[in-house]
Amino acid sequence: MSAPETDREHADFRQYARRWLAENRPPPPPERLPITPIEVMTTGQRDYLQAWQRQCYDAGLVGTDVPVAYGGHGHNGLQRIANQELNRAGVPFLINIIGLSMAAPTILKHGTEEQKRQFIPGCLSGEEIWCQGFSEPGAGSDLANQRTSAVRDGDDWIINGHKVWTSLGHFAKWMILITRTSKDEKYQGLTYFLCPIAGHPGVTVRPLLKITGETGFNEVFFEDVRIPDSYRLDDVGMGWSVAMTTLLSERGAAEGAGAGGGEGEKAVENLIDLARNAWRDGELAADDPVTRDAIMQRAIIAEGLRQNARRARVPALCDHPMRLPLQQKLTHSEFQQDNARLGVEIAGAHASLYKLDPRAPDAGHWPLAYLNSYGNTIAAGTNEIQRNILGERVLGLPKSK
Ligand SMILES: Cc1cc2nc3c(=O)[nH]c(=O)nc-3n(C[C@H](O)[C@H](O)[C@H](O)COP(=O)(O)OP(=O)(O)OC[C@H]3O[C@@H](n4cnc5c(N)ncnc54)[C@H](O)[C@@H]3O)c2cc1C
Repeated sequence: MSAPETDREHADFRQYARRWLAENRPPPPPERLPITPIEVMTTGQRDYLQAWQRQCYDAGLVGTDVPVAYGGHGHNGLQRIANQELNRAGVPFLINIIGLSMAAPTILKHGTEEQKRQFIPGCLSGEEIWCQGFSEPGAGSDLANQRTSAVRDGDDWIINGHKVWTSLGHFAKWMILITRTSKDEKYQGLTYFLCPIAGHPGVTVRPLLKITGETGFNEVFFEDVRIPDSYRLDDVGMGWSVAMTTLLSERGAAEGAGAGGGEGEKAVENLIDLARNAWRDGELAADDPVTRDAIMQRAIIAEGLRQNARRARVPALCDHPMRLPLQQKLTHSEFQQDNARLGVEIAGAHASLYKLDPRAPDAGHWPLAYLNSYGNTIAAGTNEIQRNILGERVLGLPKSK
């Protein structure tokens, strides 16, 4: 259970957010929504979710802590509370996940004044959807192995190359893009850009199909794409260091509960509801001691994630800047996977009914969530890589060969 709020401003904001969300629940979507923003496929889903993000932004629940000059609401430390309340309310997700959790924090840290004023407002309102162009066919875990090139041509840059697994690329107006500007040095040869995508000459976006049957990510091809130097983020050769800012924000956001909790509790509540309605051999799953114990174990992990998120806000308890974002990303993605696996087990044979089957429990959520959960253990850097980084850089263990 949540600890009582100590600070008056925080308590008032929480009350406001909770009341606003209760009074402004959006109407049901015109078509089924996927589980996460990175599987949004249709323009109907997109328009509905963009309108919802805009409403949350206007209400001060998005961009809460961003300075007013860049389109935010100028508070300090209230975004976390807004995120918690958004999670708890069980309302639709915010579609511009890459803009909010990666592009905006990176631009805030590395951007010029002009870039902050130009790019951040559209990220927050959801009007301009962003995607991330980091992964390539030969550069995933080995991110610095970038081949997509950017070559200077007067005041412009010419981009050529091929990105892959680009979530939301099909709706994106902008991409955060890493490119190679020098072949002489692996890390210092990288430069970071904010690159126009939709309708931009030379850019081709092709959807890829996921194990869930959904699209959502894409391949993006660049053929002599021309962009001005004003779209370069930070100095030439600083791409790796800018990318690290993005990845730390991405992993921090991928922890989910790192926003402060809410999602974990909700996930456990959903399992309890499922168990209260699932019959097996004439017995309710909720009466089975093994199932009850398994759900209790999920509740314990949810609480651990929540406490770690609280710990992340106390500088004296954060000995290494990478420890908590990476640890939470790792634990949270496996928490989601284990929850979904348990949901499938509780639903039993009914879990074979997929999302379009009207007889499927919880509208087919559990098998879909289980298949989807593999993506979370890969995206934002695979869990094997997170374990390597935690072992080597945070715990100081010897490097793996
Ligand atoms: C749902 C989803 C959404 C994504 N969205 C985006 C996006 O929007 N933009 C984007 O740029 N990318 C995106 N990605 C790509 C993601 O970042 C990469 O898939 C990830 O970094 C792994 O790279 P890879 O797929 O090339 O696998 P590889 O790097 O080829 O790895 C293959 C396997 O080898 C293991 N491995 C590799 N090196 C090591 C090592 N040193 N030690 C131990 N094990 C190792 C990995 O853990 C993995 O199991 C997304 C991925 C998913 C699943």
